[in-house]
Amino acid sequence: MKSLILKALSDILVHMRIFGKRLSTPTGFWSIAVIALLVVIALYLFLENWQLRAEIADLKRQIVSLELREKELETQVDQLQKEREELLQNAVGSLRQRTTYMEKIISQLGLSRYLRQKKKRFPKAMGGPYLPPQKEYEVLLERIEEYLSMVQKVPLGKPCRGYISSYYGYRRDPFSGRRAFHSGIDIVGRYGTPVRSTADGVVYRVGYTRGLGRYVKIKHAHGFMTIYGHLRKTVVKRGERVKKGEIIGYLGNTGRSTGPHLHYEIRRWGRSLNPLRFIRAERKLARLAK
Ligand SMILES: [Zn+2]
Repeated sequence: MKSLILKALSDILVHMRIFGKRLSTPTGFWSIAVIALLVVIALYLFLENWQLRAEIADLKRQIVSLELREKELETQVDQLQKEREELLQNAVGSLRQRTTYMEKIISQLGLSRYLRQKKKRFPKAMGGPYLPPQKEYEVLLERIEEYLSMVQKVPLGKPCRGYISSYYGYRRDPFSGRRAFHSGIDIVGRYGTPVRSTADGVVYRVGYTRGLGRYVKIKHAHGFMTIYGHLRKTVVKRGERVKKGEIIGYLGNTGRSTGPHLHYEIRRWGRSLNPLRFIRAERKLARLAK
């Protein structure tokens, strides 16, 4: 480009001399015309070049700023990924805690055998080979769900409103005054208070005895049975399926009873258990859900 302009300039200088000598001749006129044209072209090219340079410089600036922006975005993505990882780690940590806590409650209820069966189905989650957080999160969630559905089948919580007036174990019999084993708990409440099944199950027996008065026995999974005694009225039939929380009768004073109360008993494989443990377990689980 430079050489082109120089050439044009030298041409101009050469023709200047010609211009002085032969201005009046037609050759002189054409020479000037050619020179003028060359000058115009040179100027045009120069301007074009200048504009291109400016454009290129501008493009370079844009590229640099784009590169900067890209780097910025990359750092942001890294940051977000880190935050996500952290959140996931926290979630996995709290899920792990919850799972362990649930396992503790379940084994306190005497169901650890069932728990071991469950664990076999998730061998990797138990300190085995490394599990990516995302996967562990899913595995733990699945396990908690399984535990919850399992717990749904275990009699938990209180069957009716009221306060516990008599606990499980040896006590002085309210009628004979002698030391006797109390195989359940007594819940004192208002006459007619709804009494609910403490777990999903099937009504095993509805009847009346001198001791228990009007009663309902419900069979549940894992060998559990619940007994509700001294009822005023029963509203379920033998063989009927009941859900946890479903009303099965109303609190009364039938049988060997000194006032309106519910005698509540939990048995497993025929052995009576302390219902208080199961009432407390529900409270613990409720805390866990928060
Ligand atoms: Zn009792």
